[in-house]
This record gives sequence, structure tokens and C-alpha cells, in this order.
Amino acid sequence: MSAGAMTTETNPEVLVIGGGPAGSCAAARLRQHGLRVLVVEKCAFPRFHIGESLLPAGNSVLAEIGALEKIKGGGFVPKYGAEFHRADGSATKKVLFSRGHVPGLDSAFQVERARFDALLLDHARSLGAEVRMETAVRSVDRDGAGYRVVLAAASGARTITVPWVIDSTGRDPGLMSDQKRALEPAPFPKRMAVYTHFHGVARTEGPEGGNILVVRIEGGWFWLIPIDAERTSVGIVTTVAAFRAAGQTPENYFHQAVAGSVKLTELLGRATPTMGFHVTSDYSYFRRELAQERLVLAGDAAGFFDPIFSSGVYMATWSGTTAADLVARAHAAGRTLTPRECRGYSRTVKRHAGVFQKLIAAFYDDDAFDVFMCEQVPSYLAPAITSIVAGHANLTWGLWWRFKVFLLFCRMQRHWKIVKPPTAKAAPMAG
Ligand SMILES: Cc1cc2nc3c(=O)[nH]c(=O)nc-3n(C[C@H](O)[C@H](O)[C@H](O)COP(=O)(O)OP(=O)(O)OC[C@H]3O[C@@H](n4cnc5c(N)ncnc54)[C@H](O)[C@@H]3O)c2cc1C
Repeated sequence: MSAGAMTTETNPEVLVIGGGPAGSCAAARLRQHGLRVLVVEKCAFPRFHIGESLLPAGNSVLAEIGALEKIKGGGFVPKYGAEFHRADGSATKKVLFSRGHVPGLDSAFQVERARFDALLLDHARSLGAEVRMETAVRSVDRDGAGYRVVLAAASGARTITVPWVIDSTGRDPGLMSDQKRALEPAPFPKRMAVYTHFHGVARTEGPEGGNILVVRIEGGWFWLIPIDAERTSVGIVTTVAAFRAAGQTPENYFHQAVAGSVKLTELLGRATPTMGFHVTSDYSYFRRELAQERLVLAGDAAGFFDPIFSSGVYMATWSGTTAADLVARAHAAGRTLTPRECRGYSRTVKRHAGVFQKLIAAFYDDDAFDVFMCEQVPSYLAPAITSIVAGHANLTWGLWWRFKVFLLFCRMQRHWKIVKPPTAKAAPMAG
């Protein structure tokens, strides 16, 4: 087919680019609205993806699109909380979701993304979305009342025209619409992650064995996420500057950091990697405008800050369905998105992300982290912070003012040490 011609076999009203959580949830939601949807995904599924720890707040999004029961039946590891440890083992803080201020946010799942993403995409397909795998979008250009989109697959390239596009291509820079060029000023230093899956990581028995473990080390942290009975996803997050200064391979950098921590040595002493190490760097950014007349960005395509509070998949699923609602409303009214709707969507997504941004900033600040780790938090604050850690970023008044008080305590700690920092324990002997 020549470039510029419209396909006859498909006449989608919305093209969803990318079959990750944002794309699948957007597609499922669009089908609930009765729109014809085409999802194109450049990879073959199942495929490895990082982002394995989910948040309880995401359950309601999955329930709304009718996918929650399938995820519950998917054999994923139940996650009832998060544990934060200091590297020297001197302090631990357990956040149990069931103790949160907001009811109904008791648990989530730790997932192998290969399986989770395939399950969500299958769900969108089961609702009637057409899905084309191993098909990449090469370009998206305005064309009259829609977009001219070039798709590339093993069988060749073809061009389609569609009235609406939801770009859920994740962090992939391959497809750069005008919308994606402008970025907000970077909120955090350039960080990177080195990670793989392990067998043999020490685990607590019972439900707590499903918790995510976060071990804070000098200048960064480790995650340990149990993704099934045997395997645990383990990764280190550090600054690009610290990694470069160390002059080591990613794998050696990882192992040296483990060896320098009492807690990590205890957890990973008998563990062996089940695959090679992956590296992802410079992942903190947010696009300035997240929507224009007929194109909306969802999930990581819109922005992502940091993995520390496991907010990525929740933000992807939630923004995917929110984008779909926006498109469906305008489509039903036979009009494009208004500038006000575009601004409103950008503002709403950034307000949600902004709550996590503040929490992330607190985690990386030594003084604020002392407050976060403190066990003697006033009883009116702890449940609110638990709910926010569970992903409840839509702050009600009750959560909003408590979060403000928490952030105020974090600032006060800088000057007055209202919380006593724990005494550091010695690092283990090398070798
Ligand atoms: C180190 C690290 C650790 C993380 N840990 C967590 C965690 O524990 N919990 C959590 O919730 N989040 C985590 N995240 C974030 C999480 O990975 C993302 O937020 C999430 O995957 C975003 O989903 P998405 O659907 O927007 O994008 P993706 O999941 O990346 O999906 C995008 C899809 O689009 C496809 N695609 C890209 N370009 C094209 C194209 N041109 N044509 C067709 N298809 C295309 C890709 O192949 C991909 O399948 C982590 C991120 C990092 C960097």
C-alpha cells in the first residue's frame, strides 16, 4: 500500500501506540466507551520490562476496566506492605497498607511484567480492541481532522489515518511527536538503576514475604521485589555521577554496594542472578504539555520521576484510563479537545505525580528520611502517609493537611533535629 492511503481492513477511531499498562488500560476503557480501537505494540509479548511492584491504589483502575479479577487469578505475589531499611541494619520501618487512613487500599501485587503486561493487553483484546504486535509506529503527523500514522512491521510499512491518538510508548524516545519535545525542568539529579532477577534471596515467611524491601544506602537505595516463589527482582539506584566516579562495570558496582551493607549482605548472601544485569539511566522527566487537540500522552510517555515509591504502573494505568475518558467525551461531542481540557488533563496528571515527587524528594533527603523512618510519628500522621505510600495521590482534605504537616516536620528536621537519627552500625569486613 502506498504511503498516505488509508487501510480498508481497519478503520479505528483511536490509535493507541504501545501495549504497556498505559496503552492496555486506555484501550480497554475506550472499548467500554464503544470506540473502535487499534493498539500497536512494537515488541512480541511476553517481553521483559522493569516496574514490578504495584500499588493498592491501582486496583480500582483495574477493577473499573474489568481486569482486576484476571490479575487476582494470575498467580502474582500479594503485596501487603513496604519495608524500608537502613543499609547498616540500624533501623527498619514497615508500612502495612491495611493501617492506612483511606479504607480499601490493603494490598497490591508484585508482578513479573512480562506476564502482567500480556494479561492486560489480552484483556483489552477481549473487550474488542484490535491489537497488532511487532508493529512500530514510525511517525505521527497532523492530517486534516486527524493524524497520518506510518506503521512498520516485518511485512512492510503502511500508512493509516486516525482521528485520535493516545501515545503510550513509555520512555521509548523512538517516536517523537511535537507534544513530546518540550520537557519540564528536571526535578532530580540524573539517576540510574542496575538490576536483575535472583534466586535464593532471604525472605520472611508468610504474607510479609510479599513486601517490597527498600534498603537505603549512601547516595541511593536497593529494591528487592519477590516476583514469584523463587525469584526476586533486585536493583540498585544511584546517581549517574557516583557510578561514573566509581569507574566500575554496572555488575561490579552492584556487588560492591551489596558487600558494603550489613542488611544487603544478609539478604543477598546466598543469592545468584538468573539473567544478565540491565541498566536504565536518566529516567526522571515530565513533558510540558500532555495533550493537544487530538493527541494525548499517557503513562511514561507523559513523564516519570523515580521508582522509589513504585508509582509508575499506577500512574500509567490511571492516566491511560483518564486519557481514554477525555478522548471519548470529545469524540462523542464531535469535536477536538478544547485548550481547557488539554490544560486540565496536564494539570491533573502532574498534580497526581507531584504528590509522589514530594515523597521521592523526602526519601532522598537525609533529614526528611530520618522523619520518614521514625517509629514515633504522631498517630494522626502515620495512617495518612501509609495511604499516600499506597498510591492515594488524589489528596482529600484529610490527607492533604496531614501530608503538609509531614513535609513541615521534614523541613524542621533540617534545623532542629526533632527526630534523633539512629546510630550507624559498622559496615561488614570486605571479603
Ligand atoms: C529502574 C526502574 C524501576 C521501576 N520500578 C517500578 C516499580 O517497582 N513499580 C512501578 O509501578 N513502576 C516502576 N517503574 C516505572 C514503570 O516501569 C513504568 O512507569 C511503567 O512501565 C509505565 O508504563 P507505560 O505503559 O507507560 O510504558 P511501558 O510499560 O514502557 O510500555 C510502553 C510500550 O510501548 C511500546 N512502544 C514504544 N515505542 C513504540 C512505537 N514507536 N510503536 C509501537 N510500540 C511502541 C513498548 O514496546 C512498550 O511495550 C520503574 C522504572 C524504572 C526505570
